[in-house]
Amino acid sequence: MTAADDRNADCQVKWCDETGSHAVHRKYLASVNGGIRGSGLVGVNVAQRVQPHSSVCVELTITTPWASTAGYLFAAPYVPDIAAALVDAASRARDLDGARRRKDDQHPPTA
Ligand SMILES: [Zn+2]
Repeated sequence: MTAADDRNADCQVKWCDETGSHAVHRKYLASVNGGIRGSGLVGVNVAQRVQPHSSVCVELTITTPWASTAGYLFAAPYVPDIAAALVDAASRARDLDGARRRKDDQHPPTA
């Protein structure tokens, strides 16, 4: 028996990384730093509730040092719209941050 077989021994869903009793089948795909000190990690998984007729979804998890991990399931067809909205928001945030920095440069704080 290989290590992979051992890991999946508890779940009959071939792609599932979870072991033991679990309410959601889950395959961990990526873990991305939120980029702000203490903001924690954003996890990206594929996940499927352990219920009849549940579809495989995309799951985002937010793990911080101060709160229990929060997870959100999204239907796969909607994920590209969510991803596009995130990219748009990031672009706007950079523009706003750049405008603020340029304004600060024009009016440096007086000591
Ligand atoms: Zn499973």
